[in-house]
Amino acid sequence: MLEQKINEVFGDKEPSGFGTGWWSGVLSAFFGLLSLGAVACLHFPQVLTSPELRGYYPMPLMRMLIQGLIVGAILFGLVSAMLRRKKALALTGMLLALAATLLGGASVPINETLRDGPAIGLDWFLLDMLLMTLIFSPIEVLWPAYPEQSVFRDDWLQDIVYFLSTHLPIQITSFLILLPATQLTTYLGVPAVLEAMGRLPWLVQFFLAVLVADLCEYFFHRMFHTVPFLWRFHAIHHSSKALDWIAGSRAHIVEDVVVRGGMLIPMMFIFPHDMIVAYLLFVTIHATWAHCNFGPTLKWLEPYLILPRFHHWHHTSQKEAIDKNFAIHFPWIDRIFGTYHFPKEGWPETYGLHEEKIPAGFWAQFFYPFTGKKPA
Ligand SMILES: [Zn+2]
Ligand SMILES: [Zn+2]
Repeated sequence: MLEQKINEVFGDKEPSGFGTGWWSGVLSAFFGLLSLGAVACLHFPQVLTSPELRGYYPMPLMRMLIQGLIVGAILFGLVSAMLRRKKALALTGMLLALAATLLGGASVPINETLRDGPAIGLDWFLLDMLLMTLIFSPIEVLWPAYPEQSVFRDDWLQDIVYFLSTHLPIQITSFLILLPATQLTTYLGVPAVLEAMGRLPWLVQFFLAVLVADLCEYFFHRMFHTVPFLWRFHAIHHSSKALDWIAGSRAHIVEDVVVRGGMLIPMMFIFPHDMIVAYLLFVTIHATWAHCNFGPTLKWLEPYLILPRFHHWHHTSQKEAIDKNFAIHFPWIDRIFGTYHFPKEGWPETYGLHEEKIPAGFWAQFFYPFTGKKPA
């Protein structure tokens, strides 16, 4: 429904290659949206920004970034408006940037003293989206594993809706997980463990954090594949017929919350807060990269660290690789547990679900696991 609406307003039959005003229009709307969201964060930091992150922001740099986004939205909007007949994208981008400017732009002061407490986490969501787009879109365009696959493939709008829907509320749900977990660790935590961990070199701590997280992730991921009721949630992540970075965010919110909780709660007993924040940043980038339509690979690194080709084999619908490759950081974890499938060369030919069909569209997929309906 939502995808259809977006298509009606913004889509047109004109070509979408370079020089047609499509890319500049998309960028204008994207930058406009980011700048307006960022200005909203400056106005309502208590409600909108994540307490875990506030302390880390270099504010002068963030303000320059917001200014840059506003200018970018207007410039790309002008370019697109000149090149393209349908001007909905360009106008949207420029209007969003104008609204951001009228609301005070990058110079809105922050006067209140901020307290901890539940927040929506719009700041992380916007940064995440900008960061991911900057890192992954160019490398997919320049060095794709599947060159014939378009950036604006079928379902890309649906997956953007997934990106929006899982990244925004995950902040609230993370808080719901973290709040009881914090209580739990205050009563049950062993301070000596945290202290001992804190004395190790930073890099060792980080490696251990990734290892513990991946072991937890492996366990939950495998459970989502083997317990039939849980598989109905995870099947949604596997329903993508083609993979790219944005397809990686197609996941049911229940799965997101369970896996994230199952990873974070044990980690909070072992690792200092800074290390958990560092890990969250790392997993966001690494897990997204694993889904990337990115061809180049480093043969010597492949056995030790997951590169896109390994996780692509997890997503294939080819029989030989079903229920294999559950780890998300270290492939040797799958070797240890006997679930490793990684041909020396080559990429899978087909992706998606092996023999079932699940409904199309965000809401149908949201309710699908709760209905008793047999997969078709
Ligand atoms: Zn899976
Ligand atoms: Zn995946």
